Amino acid sequence: MSSELPAYQLKFSAKRRSIQLKIQAGQLWVSAPTGCDPQFIQQLILQKKDWIDKHLQQQSQERTDWIAQRRLPLFGDTLALKIVEDSVNQFSLDGDCLWLQLSHRNKAQSQQKWLEKLVTEFYLQQAQLWFEQQVHQDQQRMQLQCRSVRVCNFKAKWGSCDSSGVLSFNWRLVMAPQWVARYVVVHELAHLVHMDHSKAFWTLVERFNSDAAKARLWLKQNQHWMRL
Ligand SMILES: [Zn+2]
Repeated sequence: MSSELPAYQLKFSAKRRSIQLKIQAGQLWVSAPTGCDPQFIQQLILQKKDWIDKHLQQQSQERTDWIAQRRLPLFGDTLALKIVEDSVNQFSLDGDCLWLQLSHRNKAQSQQKWLEKLVTEFYLQQAQLWFEQQVHQDQQRMQLQCRSVRVCNFKAKWGSCDSSGVLSFNWRLVMAPQWVARYVVVHELAHLVHMDHSKAFWTLVERFNSDAAKARLWLKQNQHWMRL
């Protein structure tokens, strides 16, 4: 067992008589009676470390079934998802509502597949538009020039930059707030100069994106629900 203390948020309350530990939103939250000795709290956390680790891990694997909940995250906002039966399979965006038309000719058992396909197509389209525009803007600011912008279905990375200067981005980033996606754009553009993650690379990233550290943490803490 490691004796390293996990990160936690501490709140004191005059109403509390005992210490409460809770795992919520991928974090450990501690409520303690006012005046409680911080060392005592840390000891308790260490004692409960196995329980905490188990629950943190469970929660990091929990997925949100966005389609079933009829809502879709888009750049920090939430779209309502409306499904109607029609003669074709297609999607259309109307304000903050995404309409999905499902053909009545679809087989009943393939409806779910169609829903996922249409929502993915919608996200890919949004991602392509947004990343092209954002790269265009940032490469002027950074005085760089990439070859082209692609949107991909990466499993385990947010973006990439190949040696010919093609930038690729994970479409799931459109489920994050824009300030987070903007960091990934600056990160990949900086690879046009430094193909590694050296100190010089990070200096360049931070020069053009002051949210870099915050955005990386955000992605780590929220990646588990950024999928369909
Ligand atoms: Zn990188």
